[in-house]
Amino acid sequence: MGNIVAIVGRPNVGKSTLFNRLVGMRQAIVDATEGTTRDRHYGTTDWNGREFTVIDTGGFTVNSEDIFERAICRQVELAIEEADSLIFMVDVETGITDLDLTMAELLRRQSKPVLLAVNKVDNAMRQTDAYEFYSLGLGDPVTVSSMTGSGTGDLLDAVVASL
Ligand code: GDP
Ligand code: MG
Repeated sequence: MGNIVAIVGRPNVGKSTLFNRLVGMRQAIVDATEGTTRDRHYGTTDWNGREFTVIDTGGFTVNSEDIFERAICRQVELAIEEADSLIFMVDVETGITDLDLTMAELLRRQSKPVLLAVNKVDNAMRQTDAYEFYSLGLGDPVTVSSMTGSGTGDLLDAVVASL
């Protein structure tokens, strides 16, 4: 049984907010070789007595659209190699973007468990907006608010069950 969970998703969906919520005051280990795509934060957390490592991916900054998309896909590929289970985070405020679709395709083409987390569901009204994410073909979306912590317990139940 492995114990590494990677959070992937395009910039600004709330990956780091969730990571910080999970890892909290514990020390995050930063592997940030400047200018490379291998820029990720590692931390440990536990849920229901199960300890696991969380990877926050994608602190890179690149300018060209083209390189940007390639760098993001590379992040996902690295995460797939490194992790035992993946949280694919999307954001209900923005909805589904082309990058979400590209990443979803990469994730569907591999065999590790993927939990689809729809973030920024801060209130009940946004709950119904989350239905559109079924179309990503990655199963039932888990709605969360990384900001308030709402739904993150259900997400962690699913994460631990997938390990
Ligand atoms: P990352 O680029 O995926 O790591 O995203 P960040 O964690 O840096 O968050 C991007 C922005 O989204 C920040 O302004 C966060 O405050 C905001 N954000 C993160 N989670 C939530 C959430 O659950 N609800 C709302 N409304 N905003 C959020
Ligand atoms: Mg981040």
